[in-house]
Amino acid sequence: MRLPVTTLLAFAALGLGACGGRAPEGATVIHAARLYTAPDAPAVDDAAILVVDGKIAAAGPAKDIEARGAGSLGACDGGVVVAGFQNSHVHFTEEKFAGAKDKPAAELRSAMDAMLNRFGFTTVVDTASNLANTLALRARVEAGEVAGPRILTAGGALYPKDGIPIYLRDLPPEVLASLSQPASVEAALEDVQANLDGGADATKLFLMTPQGNGRYAFMQADIALAAADETHRRGLLVLAHPTDIEGINLAVEAGVDVLVHTTIGEGKTVWDPPLVEQMLAKNMSVVPTLQLFPYELNRMKLEQRIVELATGDAVEQVRTYSKAGGVILFGTDVGYMADYDPTVEYQLMARALSPMQILSSLTTAPALRWKEEGRRGRIEPGKDADLVVLEADPAKDAANFAKVRCTIRGGRIIHRTASPIG
Ligand SMILES: [Zn+2]
Repeated sequence: MRLPVTTLLAFAALGLGACGGRAPEGATVIHAARLYTAPDAPAVDDAAILVVDGKIAAAGPAKDIEARGAGSLGACDGGVVVAGFQNSHVHFTEEKFAGAKDKPAAELRSAMDAMLNRFGFTTVVDTASNLANTLALRARVEAGEVAGPRILTAGGALYPKDGIPIYLRDLPPEVLASLSQPASVEAALEDVQANLDGGADATKLFLMTPQGNGRYAFMQADIALAAADETHRRGLLVLAHPTDIEGINLAVEAGVDVLVHTTIGEGKTVWDPPLVEQMLAKNMSVVPTLQLFPYELNRMKLEQRIVELATGDAVEQVRTYSKAGGVILFGTDVGYMADYDPTVEYQLMARALSPMQILSSLTTAPALRWKEEGRRGRIEPGKDADLVVLEADPAKDAANFAKVRCTIRGGRIIHRTASPIG
């Protein structure tokens, strides 16, 4: 359509014209040396993102963005901007998050920043915790009292009968007694319903748990299936902790949606093609948690050779599953793992995946998995203004995903790294 010159002039006067136009009231602009709007889109250099009311209003080459008069986020300008990250495996079970309802906001704020905000996470999946406490924490975040990510939670997990994993035995007796270990389908359904009715967003199943001395407890197949079916009936996701390949077989049988770990071995734990086929047929996603392997095995003071073989197995599982078309969701098990810095996770993932595949595991893939691709995962008009400003380009080195300058959630800064002195 060709518009008369007078109309064009009128548009320009209203700030609706071409470049250099006036930004809408209350807008904020972020300038980026480089912008990745999504893992499958080309990078844009010298870019700008315009945010209005917590949503992205425009994103692209700076010369095309009508940002005149928009507010600035100051030190957040000039980095490499990507969409907000999702960590698909965290826990709010540490003492610093306990009593979340009444704890001083400043304490929760610093706990949240140390574990999540400073690494770019704007959405997290808590894959097992005390539901009431996590919901109280979420309420304080959503009320704007505690800067933090959006929290999706599985609440209380289900364990096999008499099957609390050996690494949880040190929990206080009253906590241990509260953990669900259903002995029948009826008891399992009751626990799943109570958890989901109580506000959980997913169901977490421990299908196979180590009991010490090489022994394992297994969840009965009919119990796992009933728990999964009830969750799916409500349109929600089932997450599972597999431990080993036998655990994956149980997960396939039950119809689990997300495996929250790869599996452990000593240089021979491969996911063979029939297993991968079955996982794909169930549309299963995998959270690698690669850094957890050296973290755990080094704590057990195992030989470096064994640590590397086990870690190498997990890397190979990620490579195999991704290559076959399986979906990978970034996740680190922080909250259980005390090492919050995900740099090693990115470095290990880079042995199996390209930087843009890693970006997908942090952004578009989890948004799609949680059926929220309409509101997040990409930097495009209408999406939530969840953004991460990185110091350097992750396409050059995946470790740069951990070098976060600013984390912005819904247009608001939830973390800003102080600039280096000098
Ligand atoms: Zn975990």
